Amino acid sequence: MSSIFTKIINGELPAYKVAEDDDFLAFLDINPNAKGHTLCIPKKEIDKIFDMEEEHYMELMKFSRKVALALEKAVPCKRVGMSVVGLEVPHVHVHLIPLQEMDDIRFTKKEKLTPEAFEQTAKQIAENL
Ligand code: 5GP
Repeated sequence: MSSIFTKIINGELPAYKVAEDDDFLAFLDINPNAKGHTLCIPKKEIDKIFDMEEEHYMELMKFSRKVALALEKAVPCKRVGMSVVGLEVPHVHVHLIPLQEMDDIRFTKKEKLTPEAFEQTAKQIAENL
């Protein structure tokens, strides 16, 4: 069965998309630690990040860096943090999280955003790519 993220890639589930190319997609996390929390994923469904081919992994990092630089411009923060967990969704994803404090990277504090705020944030990040 396809992962939730494959369904997003295929347009079967909605997402606030930020960036896309032939091999990767970035979209906002639906339950963000902080405003602007973005997930970068490979379109090829792979469970664990370190199972990726080295070149594919390096391309994911390059894509994530590009998105992180745009995110840092779009959302006021001290810096953008990066984390890889994967315990909930078995499809590789890099979390990019605008940080103000250590709690923002702990996945305990969650931010409630309106659909309009998600929409506007995704647009602002995309405009800074
Ligand atoms: P992890 O697998 O790294 O523990 O976390 C998975 C992340 O994916 C969580 O931060 C969760 O909020 C996010 N997530 C789970 N389902 C969806 C979804 O359907 N859409 C979006 N945009 N994010 C999701």
